[in-house]
Amino acid sequence: RFPPHRPRAARSRLLVLAGPTAVGKGTVAAHIRETHPEIHLSVSATTRAPRPGEVDGVHYYFVDDAEFDRLIAAGQLLEHATVHNRYRYGTPRGPVDAALAAGKTVLLEIDLQGARQVRAAEPAASLVFLLPPTWDELVNRLVGRGTEGDEERARRLRTARTELAAQNEFDYLVVNADVASAAEEVVELSSGSAH
Ligand code: 5GP
Repeated sequence: RFPPHRPRAARSRLLVLAGPTAVGKGTVAAHIRETHPEIHLSVSATTRAPRPGEVDGVHYYFVDDAEFDRLIAAGQLLEHATVHNRYRYGTPRGPVDAALAAGKTVLLEIDLQGARQVRAAEPAASLVFLLPPTWDELVNRLVGRGTEGDEERARRLRTARTELAAQNEFDYLVVNADVASAAEEVVELSSGSAH
């Protein structure tokens, strides 16, 4: 593990997991859901449609644009952002507050824009940035099957470089070489952990 960028920052029970596109933060969060049921994994609201196997209220709250607007207007989202210039995603505030009040550790798996908003709203939150083991590994994961044209490929790589630069804003860096190990490192960064 890398040393924290802000050594004086106390560990918090509010953990934010972010990182560049395709680094595998969803997989790491899913692993934590399986192995650490005591941790409250925040369920986001989103305007995108469910994928096969996704359950409303478990993986996301699937809402339409009008409902998303209503949640914002009612002040019910801790943060929200349009991701990849497409759908909207946001963290419902109530369940996060309730879990923290109950003494639980809370994990948000959100994008960089959201992480910055949580930093502003909750300065004590611990921000964890998930890194690929190498730049080439991230390129492989991003470019994947090689079905994109040169332009799309170049666009994705530019995005990844910009996103990686955001790691300096984070409290902790965790390398995702192995999902189970990365998940354990994230859990150990919370103040709720015995370590
Ligand atoms: P997906 O649609 O593949 O499940 O998620 C797409 C992206 O949305 C991921 O980068 C994920 O981290 C981000 N995301 C999921 N929930 C939230 C949220 O509540 N707020 C923000 N800002 N981003 C989110």
